[in-house]
Amino acid sequence: MNQTHAIRYTIQPCNPYAHLFEVRLEIDAPAPDGQVFQLPAWIPGSYMIRDFARNIIAVSARSNGQPVTVEKIDKHTWKCAPAAGPLTLHYEVYAWDLSVRTAHLDQTHAFYNGTSVFLLPRGYETAPCLVDIQPPAGEAYLDWRVATALKTESAPLYGFGQYRAANYDELIDSPVEMGAFTLAQFTACGVPHDVVITGRQRADLERLTRDMKTICEHHIRFFGEPAPFDRYVFLVMAVGQGYGGLEHRASTALLCSRDDLPLAHETEARESYRNFLGLVSHEYFHSWNVKRIKPEAFLPYDLFNENYTRQLWAFEGITSYYDDLGLVRSGLLTTGQYLEGLAKTITRVMQGPGRLKQSVAESSFDAWIKFYKADENTPNAVVNYYTKGTLIALALDLTLRTRTQGQHSLDDVMRALWTRHGQPLVGVPEGAIESLAAEISGLDLAPFFQEALYGTTDLPLTTLFAAVGVRLHQPDAGQPAKSALGVALAAGAEAKVQHAYSDGSAQRAGLSAGDEILAIDGMRVNSKSLTPLIESYPPGSHVEVYAFRRDELMRFDVTLQPAIPGYQLTVETDALPEAIALRTQWLSGA
Ligand code: ZN
Repeated sequence: MNQTHAIRYTIQPCNPYAHLFEVRLEIDAPAPDGQVFQLPAWIPGSYMIRDFARNIIAVSARSNGQPVTVEKIDKHTWKCAPAAGPLTLHYEVYAWDLSVRTAHLDQTHAFYNGTSVFLLPRGYETAPCLVDIQPPAGEAYLDWRVATALKTESAPLYGFGQYRAANYDELIDSPVEMGAFTLAQFTACGVPHDVVITGRQRADLERLTRDMKTICEHHIRFFGEPAPFDRYVFLVMAVGQGYGGLEHRASTALLCSRDDLPLAHETEARESYRNFLGLVSHEYFHSWNVKRIKPEAFLPYDLFNENYTRQLWAFEGITSYYDDLGLVRSGLLTTGQYLEGLAKTITRVMQGPGRLKQSVAESSFDAWIKFYKADENTPNAVVNYYTKGTLIALALDLTLRTRTQGQHSLDDVMRALWTRHGQPLVGVPEGAIESLAAEISGLDLAPFFQEALYGTTDLPLTTLFAAVGVRLHQPDAGQPAKSALGVALAAGAEAKVQHAYSDGSAQRAGLSAGDEILAIDGMRVNSKSLTPLIESYPPGSHVEVYAFRRDELMRFDVTLQPAIPGYQLTVETDALPEAIALRTQWLSGA
């Protein structure tokens, strides 16, 4: 193909009230035996088949002024009848999912990921793309602007008009926000960064951009300047209640609660704001770890089928480890705040019975059908490769630091991954991170990785923390223990069981997910009063529980087990000098 822009798209919110985008796609040289078009079945970063084609409506094609027959040949594939000249495909996309993964359109804004709206003409995978982004028609939309990491062609910066992508992969990795958004800017290591906020909020933009700049500069310097992009865009959707993020090569889409954002005159960083900064840190770190340092299985992505990898523990777990570590190293968290968050992660992992049934390698491989398709049994059968992956990264880091007397760390492994795989864009084969860690440290790490990645026993965190002068303990252990029913309740006023944990008090007595608990020992309970009432009984007590299963009233004799106490991490001020030195190195990144 010798055209400058082999695929030309035009996208316009054609009916915001009906949540419809209109898309036109033109190519000059359709395949002689009939051009095939496909829409991805999933979006990189979120490992589940989502069948975005379900939202594609009214597909038609024309060539040289004549209609061309379009036939659907599988769930996400269309084939046009042979056409001699330029071919134009026309379709609508329904967009009413307020998540970072798909597309959303109403009279207040438009947001889309390319995976939801842009069909790929097969054979044009490497062709350059030109996108004409058009505003909705009408006076109500005159103040709308455009935010995206796509490069402008003829459009002014933040304006409507033509944008370009080097190929389809870049096109779908560059989400677009349109609307009357708030725009704040900062530079990090000389690179311009945009913070685009949609939704009603009163954020202190000065504080926000100052803290975000700190995070970005920290991560850029961690891997080494220059940053791997020449501009970066944060697309933030602020709502009443929400949380989520999806990483892209030069941008990220974030969903947060407006209360997570800092307000003017607030000097302390609230926990919810610290969590927001953690999300920013996480998605930004992904610019290196998963967007450029990629599993071999993702180069290239197969967008139409599951892409299996056993390495998500590394791409999500290591990223989750460095998100908060980056905050404490850059001074946005205190050591106490950092250790408190880490202890919460340890508690969460230790309270999940699924960790004893599934390894992180298995969880990663089966993410498509298990982790991303959570149901009532997930906590009992699935290990979370984000949280357990964080602890594996931590254990690996502390192992490297203590066994090499502070000479090597996970930081060195990440930088080597960057120079060997990220910069040259060479996929990371299964097992490569393990051998790289061994090569850098000179240690035999095979037993560690065998158990951590493919086993289900708990990591030796107490010993590892002790070596860096931090005590991991359960402060309530040994105290008169509280009782637990061993359930998680669903949201809502009723005490409805969402999960009954393996071998917990409730499951042993026959209570199940979906049961609505009505009374304990004759006293009515709801979702708020259940836990305090259960905790008021000493472990070993027998209680009578009444619950509805569907519409049938059932009675259960429950013997209460002790609750699993939460973990805490405490800095040992009187630790040995070498332990203190390792701890300082670890938490400062020096
Ligand atoms: Zn992530």
